[in-house]
Amino acid sequence: MGLFSKDIKTMNDLFVHQLQDIYYAEKQLVKALPNMADKATDKQLKDGFLKHLEETKTHVQRLEQVFQMQGLAVKAVDCPAIDGIIKEADEVAGEVADKAVLDAALINAAQAAEHYEIVRYGSLIAWARQLGRSDCASILQKTLDEEKTTDQKLTSLAEGKVNLRAAS
Ligand code: FE
Ligand code: FE
Repeated sequence: MGLFSKDIKTMNDLFVHQLQDIYYAEKQLVKALPNMADKATDKQLKDGFLKHLEETKTHVQRLEQVFQMQGLAVKAVDCPAIDGIIKEADEVAGEVADKAVLDAALINAAQAAEHYEIVRYGSLIAWARQLGRSDCASILQKTLDEEKTTDQKLTSLAEGKVNLRAAS
């Protein structure tokens, strides 16, 4: 089903569709993060990916909770955007031989995924509130806060040492 499918008539339909989209994305990230941790050389980066893997498993559970609160079946719809981000990350990582440069590339790829999630959760939270479901919004907000913290930590790692090492 495309985003502008006729099956999406109301804001609630849109909310549900994007919930299914981000559910798919989170599950793909649970599969991708161990590979990224494997490839990372910097210890803090590796640990950061593993920590976010655990958080991401919680993101999946929170989405299942929101489906249930809405009386909906837990369902994922393909999200070509996250598939593309993960595929590109794999391709770039495969082409970078220098380990320090690879760390910089991995941070960049991870931030692309975090920014995707931040956009999706931002709208989902706004829509949930608009639809009178602030209970769902506050659950989704916990995840959004973790995505933003992860993004900021990645920036600090890049600017604090990884980029410098990659350039030297
Ligand atoms: Fe997430
Ligand atoms: Fe994330």
